[in-house]
Amino acid sequence: MNKMLKTFLREFTFRRQLGITITLGILCLALFSSLVSSWQGKERVRRNLIEQGQHITENLARQSALALLYASPDNAAEAVSATLAFPGVASVEIRDTGQRVLLAQGRARPAEFPKSFIPVAGAEALAVLDAESEGAWRFVAPVYSQPSAASPFQVQEARRERLGDVAVVMSKAELSQMTRDIFIANMISSFSFALLILILIRFLSGRMARPLRELSASMARAEAGESHVRAVLSGPKDIFDMAHAFNSMMAALEDRIAAVSHAERHIRHLAYNDTLTELPNRTQFMDMLNQTIDRARDKGQTFALLFLDLNRFKNVNDTLGHDVGDRLLIAAGRRIRHSVRADDSVARFGGDEFTVLMEDLAGATAALVASQNICFALATPFEIDGLDIYVSASIGISVYPADGMDGNTLLKHADSAMYLAKKNNSGHEFYEPGMEAKISDHVQMEGALRRAEGRNELLLYYQPKAVLATGALSGMEALVRWKHPEFGPVSPARFIPLAEETGLIVSIGAWVLRTACTQAKIWADAGMPLAVAVNLSGVQLRQRDFVDSVRAVLAETGLAPALLELEITESVLMEQAEETLSTLHQLKEIGVRLAIDDFGTGYSSLSYLKRFPVDTLKIDQSFVRDVTSDPDDAALVTGIIALAHSLRLKVVAEGVETAEQRDFLVRSDCDFIQGYLLSQPVPPEVFERNMLDAV
Ligand code: C2E
Ligand code: MG
Ligand code: MG
Repeated sequence: MNKMLKTFLREFTFRRQLGITITLGILCLALFSSLVSSWQGKERVRRNLIEQGQHITENLARQSALALLYASPDNAAEAVSATLAFPGVASVEIRDTGQRVLLAQGRARPAEFPKSFIPVAGAEALAVLDAESEGAWRFVAPVYSQPSAASPFQVQEARRERLGDVAVVMSKAELSQMTRDIFIANMISSFSFALLILILIRFLSGRMARPLRELSASMARAEAGESHVRAVLSGPKDIFDMAHAFNSMMAALEDRIAAVSHAERHIRHLAYNDTLTELPNRTQFMDMLNQTIDRARDKGQTFALLFLDLNRFKNVNDTLGHDVGDRLLIAAGRRIRHSVRADDSVARFGGDEFTVLMEDLAGATAALVASQNICFALATPFEIDGLDIYVSASIGISVYPADGMDGNTLLKHADSAMYLAKKNNSGHEFYEPGMEAKISDHVQMEGALRRAEGRNELLLYYQPKAVLATGALSGMEALVRWKHPEFGPVSPARFIPLAEETGLIVSIGAWVLRTACTQAKIWADAGMPLAVAVNLSGVQLRQRDFVDSVRAVLAETGLAPALLELEITESVLMEQAEETLSTLHQLKEIGVRLAIDDFGTGYSSLSYLKRFPVDTLKIDQSFVRDVTSDPDDAALVTGIIALAHSLRLKVVAEGVETAEQRDFLVRSDCDFIQGYLLSQPVPPEVFERNMLDAV
């Protein structure tokens, strides 16, 4: 029972609970009311039947007086049969005062009632209910003698004499029948009425519960995952409030869901895109690469993978700050994107590395043209914060399926080709088998160079410079040498670019500067004040504290600033003209001399040349080499000398090997010469022995 109640309360809907409760209530009420009214009806019928029985008995008593007076049952026969004819009358009995039966008729069961009648008190011939059994009533009425017609002479009223009693037994069958009928009628009417009310109440409760039902349906939809569902605002106040609260909750939920899905999209975007350049990132690129491989395999096509790395980007970051570096990357990314076809995929692979996927490739030349386009697009200086920043790129190209069947191999090979392009300064390289071996040499070399300084493998050689007119020694250029125990002597042309690439040039350059200044100071102290020329790398120049470090070395070694000349190649100067200008002025303020090295190879802008606070131009040896045989070179050299003199600069001709070259330079009014004609670069002790002795 308890369990049923619990199930009812927990598992049934409110509407069913309400319906069942109301139905049960109304049914009980109908049953109760029909029982009560049936009972009342039964009582009424009983009373009527008893009254009727009493009347019948009293009638019989009146008509039985003669029969008892003369002790003749025949006198009552007619009255008795008339009485028995009444519905429900079962038997009739007439007794005299001695309780002797005068007449008995009918189907009464004698055992049902007591034998004797209870004498009826009083002089009235009124019938009483003498006894009652389960199935019948017995009425008894006294019989009195009938007074004769009143005589005018009679003084005394005639006395009525009791003659006996009559008893009438009436069956209760009619009562039972009528009770049943009443009960059935009551039941039918009550339940019909109950049914009507029930229908009405069900209808009303249905209407009342509708807002709740709708709210619950809305909640169910919300539970099933619909976030935009809203409840209808109707119904009684509490349900209205609930619906309102539900709507507010759903609105808040929808906002949350929107925020979460936005965050999800953002996270996905972040996971697959580079936030700086807005290009696909490495993860997305790898996905694209694998899909491209699948497509190319299915269609039997080829495609190219370009791996691009910006040259000397690290320097931009180090010297101009990360903000400028970031903006440069964004701009470079845009230029790369615009220099390839719209269908090609460009991604930022990481740092200053970009990748390009070129599908539907007509041939390898298409990839080559794309690489050239990218290099060309990047060649225009980037204007950031009013500075012209020059960057170039090295691009490695691998082609599917020739250079690899899977993404990682293609990527590795393009990377190797890029590495060589960077090393060879060639702009772009296609992958070729065996490249990795070369690169591993390069990597080995880099490791060895890192250890070179600590192991004293670096040496500084000196090459003399002379005044052309007199042949007098005017100074020397310090040139670094690397003697590796295994590789043997390594040319600066080979290891200086590596040192620049790895940043090792900063410490190597500092060592060269200190060693050269120390040496020049020793020779100056020995009475030979010769100016020493030290080569600078662009990386060193971009170091923020470079001027301070020069000042510190001069202070430390005690060398007069005028005896130090710093050589900067023309290409470095032009590439970082604006940034270098103030550094050059600061160096001039210290009192050191400045020279432009390898002049003629770097497309100088004349306006810059005028603004640079330099003292000397060094004509590149490539012009000097053929000066006696090539009229163009001869004209160039003469022109450079005239230009330099007009800018009040001294001119040094490099790489002078022959007397003819020297004679030409004399005729062209060159100021100084340097080259094998005088001496190869030599160790300081040799320099001291050969040259200084001559001085
Ligand atoms: P550079 O500054 O133009 O140096 C002159 C180069 O020409 C030296 O090569 C020298 O040995 C070579 N040379 C001199 N006279 C002749 C000649 O008559 N004929 C020929 N064919 N060559 C001659 P080296 O020593 O191999 O240096 C190559 C370059 O490496 C230098 O060019 C310079 O740019 C760079 N370098 C050398 N030492 C340093 C250094 O300490 N720091 C930096 N940053 N760069 C250096
Ligand atoms: Mg030099
Ligand atoms: Mg040079």
